[in-house]
Amino acid sequence: MEGSAIRLRDLRKSFGDTSAVAGVDLEIRDGEFFSMLGPSGSGKTTVLRMIAGFETPTAGVIELAGQDVTGRAPFERDVHTVFQDYALFPHMTVEQNVAYSLKVRGTPKAERLARARKALAEVRLDGYGGRRPSQLSGGQRQRVALARALVGRPRVLLLDEPLGALDLKLREQMQIELKALQREVGITFVFVTHDQEEALTMSDRVAVFHQGRIEQVGTPAEIYERPATAFVASFVGTSNLLAGDTARRVLGEDGTHSIRPEKIRVLKEAEAADDPGVATAVGTVAEVVYLGDATRFLVDLDGGGRLTALQQNLDTSAEDVAAYRGTRVRLRWQRGHAVRVPD
Ligand code: ATP
Repeated sequence: MEGSAIRLRDLRKSFGDTSAVAGVDLEIRDGEFFSMLGPSGSGKTTVLRMIAGFETPTAGVIELAGQDVTGRAPFERDVHTVFQDYALFPHMTVEQNVAYSLKVRGTPKAERLARARKALAEVRLDGYGGRRPSQLSGGQRQRVALARALVGRPRVLLLDEPLGALDLKLREQMQIELKALQREVGITFVFVTHDQEEALTMSDRVAVFHQGRIEQVGTPAEIYERPATAFVASFVGTSNLLAGDTARRVLGEDGTHSIRPEKIRVLKEAEAADDPGVATAVGTVAEVVYLGDATRFLVDLDGGGRLTALQQNLDTSAEDVAAYRGTRVRLRWQRGHAVRVPD
């Protein structure tokens, strides 16, 4: 599990005047589930396509397993790409689809079939080998695409929004399956997504992209709990950003600070907080949003500024929380949960 699977050095790509990738340095370790997360147009797909060899960098170096592959063709790289639309051959059976790359490489028929069946078993599609792609559900087609990728045992699997076409329930199920599969086969997965929840759920580490650059690389907990920039704080999960006068008044500090809504407790105004490790602010509840399992409170602070707090509905009903609207409250959080981010 040691060693570097992928290393990118000052990687850049321009399309005419557009700088799609504006200098990316990154190391992905062997056996990692690594996600590239960012909004549409932030350059993550372009980085993935350069790693695959479908796009030539304007500048920079790509290494796979310590070897410079920047100038090599896609088939000369030990990687396989799974696309969002799966790109299955409609006229072939599932088994033929999965075995195709082995056939191209001249693997004998018996071995080809045995390996295709093993790959289909890995994605829990035993018995589906004789069907055509059109006779499968979206989730099953997704699994065929994965089996086809796994059959050649590439060192690295590149996945470009592979769950994007699935409905939410299936998507959540596939997230768990995909993570389990990755652990089982031990192949390095590089996963592109714009869905922060998906990236946090599945990854060992995440790189957050913004305007062609990486703003932060870290474990899901690091990215979420210690966002390195205001962009990361607002893109990954929801966050309160306190700055300027509001930060000085509420926190007694200059600069910009991020606090996650679920770290803030909503109390009655009269409840005091004498613990020095705790900060509080009083205000009026402007809005209450009942979310089923939790409630979101939007609170206008005395003296200006607004904070969002999220509370689990442990003992409260929809009627209980609605009664908070317009009332005076005290918000309370551990000081350590207000994280300073660069302005
Ligand atoms: P998405 O989630 O929408 O796929 P992304 O983060 O993957 O977004 P990229 O697809 O890498 O972003 O695109 C980055 C930028 O480069 C965008 O501004 C895009 O319009 C531009 N771009 C990408 N491919 C090309 C191309 N072949 N020709 C011209 N511009 C391109």
